[in-house]
Amino acid sequence: MSRVIGKVAIVTGGGSGLGRADARALAREGARVMVTDVDEDAARAVAQEIGGEYLRHDVRSEQDWQAVIERTVARYGKLDVLVNNAGIVVPADIESATLEQYRLINAIHAEGTFLGCKYGIGAMKRKPGGGGSIINISSLSAVRGFPGVVTYAAAKGAILSITTTVAAHCREKGDGIRCNAILPGMIATPLLEAVVGAECPGVGQPDDVANTVLFLASDESRHMSGAHIVLDNASSIIGGGA
Ligand code: NAD
Repeated sequence: MSRVIGKVAIVTGGGSGLGRADARALAREGARVMVTDVDEDAARAVAQEIGGEYLRHDVRSEQDWQAVIERTVARYGKLDVLVNNAGIVVPADIESATLEQYRLINAIHAEGTFLGCKYGIGAMKRKPGGGGSIINISSLSAVRGFPGVVTYAAAKGAILSITTTVAAHCREKGDGIRCNAILPGMIATPLLEAVVGAECPGVGQPDDVANTVLFLASDESRHMSGAHIVLDNASSIIGGGA
């Protein structure tokens, strides 16, 4: 019950699905957690459940990011772990997707993760001794062809590139900050239900992602940075067909 004891974590999109499971797991293992979400009521409910704090936070907003980082450090004294998890999906293929959708999805996933890394690193560096762990939630759709989610896949691909670049930057700076990405396959959450419906056998559970988040947040993963971790129970590597 102490794998992340003493650490301070921010989980974006922490009011539902994977973010909620991450927040619960981090709190259970000893972290103090700031739950943020554009849905303030959802964030508040999770924070109350786990004994953490919450903030309304739209990850598209640079001002919101500055306020969230500032208030987390003011409340808990530092930042050790940032989980860039918030997201939505708008199902559409390349022929039906609109530029407006593309920009919206990229603003949330790609720009949100960019801002999180930018301001998260700033706070982590200021702490005595430095160090920290940034965990970016990408998706299997970044590296496999799912025709019906083109804007989402593009944004999730950007998250992988941001992760690689940030990890290389932090290693070069020697600041002890690590940055890794998780690429979940289908996980049972409201987001997945919106895409494929309620009935979808064989999907993963939010705790399957949360356990990986916990590992990346903890010092157990201290030599791991720049990794792209596929979490799909082998669904993407099973052969078949011509
Ligand atoms: P979810 O809908 O259950 O939760 C997403 C949360 O993000 C919600 O609480 C929502 O209010 C919040 N959010 C949405 N827009 C926001 C914004 N602009 N600012 C702040 N918060 C915002 O979905 P989920 O399945 O838990 O998804 C979490 C992350 O996991 C997303 O990045 C998603 O793309 C990714 N993911 C999910 C799956 C899956 O199968 N469920 C697979 C791969 C990746």
